[in-house]
Amino acid sequence: MKNTALFIHGAGDARVGSHTPDDPSTDQVMVDVVAVGLCGSDLHYYKDGGIGTAVIDDPFVPGHEFSATLTEDVPQLDIQKGELVAVDPATPCHVCEWCEKGYHNLCPDVRFTGAPPFNGAMTQALPVPVPALIKLPSGMTPEQAAMLEPLGVCIHAIDLAKPRLLETVAVLGCGGIGLGIIQLLTLCGCQSIIAVDPQSHRLEKAKSLGANSVGTDYTAALQYTSQRGCDLVIEATNSPDGLSHSVLAAAIGGRVILVGIPDGDSYSTVSAAQARRRALDLRFSRRMGNVYKRAITLVQEQRVDVDTLITHRFSLDDAPGAFRMQADEADGLIKSMILP
Ligand SMILES: [Zn+2]
Ligand SMILES: [Zn+2]
Repeated sequence: MKNTALFIHGAGDARVGSHTPDDPSTDQVMVDVVAVGLCGSDLHYYKDGGIGTAVIDDPFVPGHEFSATLTEDVPQLDIQKGELVAVDPATPCHVCEWCEKGYHNLCPDVRFTGAPPFNGAMTQALPVPVPALIKLPSGMTPEQAAMLEPLGVCIHAIDLAKPRLLETVAVLGCGGIGLGIIQLLTLCGCQSIIAVDPQSHRLEKAKSLGANSVGTDYTAALQYTSQRGCDLVIEATNSPDGLSHSVLAAAIGGRVILVGIPDGDSYSTVSAAQARRRALDLRFSRRMGNVYKRAITLVQEQRVDVDTLITHRFSLDDAPGAFRMQADEADGLIKSMILP
C-alpha cells in the first residue's frame, strides 16, 4: 500500500497509518525508501514514548538508518534518477558554536530525520536535503547502505575510544552496535576482546565476529583478566546498569565509552569510590562525526560484515510486529530491517 507509514503514537503503541509526505522544498529531493533499519533509539521511542526531553507529542514516524532511490536526477552530486543512495539523517545548522568547531554531531539545532519532531523513513517516500545524499559505489545492496548509519555510530565510538594494540577490551551489549564495534576492534589490533550480553545467540555471533571470550554479565571482564579489569570498556546496552557495570569492568586507569541509551533515561547508582579509585576516563559518544566515507570503504572491501547483523526482515505493514519482537528481545533477533 502506498502513502502509508509506521507511526509511534506513544509508549507501546506503533501502528501503520496513511501518510502523505511533505512536498520537497528547494534544497530537498524526494526519495523512495528501500530499506530502513530498526535502531535501539527507535525502540526507545516505542518503549518509553520518548528519549529524555525528546517526547512524542504527536504521532511520529521513526527511522533514520535508511537507503532510498532518487525520484529525479541530482546532477551536482552526479546521482541519477532511480539510483540507490544512503541518506545521512543529520543535517546540522553549520552556524552554531559546535558546528563552527567541526563537531557537527553535537549541533543542538540539528535537523535529524526520524527524531521528534522530524518524521523519519519508516514510510515509502520522503523529502530529504540534497547535501544529505550519500553516493554509493556500485554493488552495494540497499540493506548494506542502510547499515552505513549504525556502522558510522560504531566508527565514531572507536574514534573516541582510540584502541591500542593488544589491549584488553570489554564490549557490554552485543546488539547491532556492539557487534559492529567488536568487528572494528579486531581491525584495530585489540587481541583480547570480551563480549558481554545476556542472550546466547548474540554471544555466539560475537565469537564468530572476533570476540575472544564471552560472558552473560560484566563479571566476564574480570574473570578473563584475572580480576584486573579491562583497559577499555565500550558500553552499547540499553540497560540503566550500563554505566555502573562499565565502571566495575574497567581496570585502574581504564577508559569507558558509553554508546548505549539506557531504558527510562536514567543510570542506576554508580559507586563513586569504584570509579574514582580507578581514575577512569569516561566519555559519552554522541551519534557520529564525519564517518560515511570510511563506513562505505569498510563494507565495500568486506572488512566489516553488516549483513550478518540483520536477522529479521519485515514489510511496512508488519513493522509494528518488528517493534514488539525487538522490545520483547526475541530469541535469535539482532537487527530488524523494514523493507517498505
Ligand atoms: Zn540508529
Ligand atoms: Zn550547529
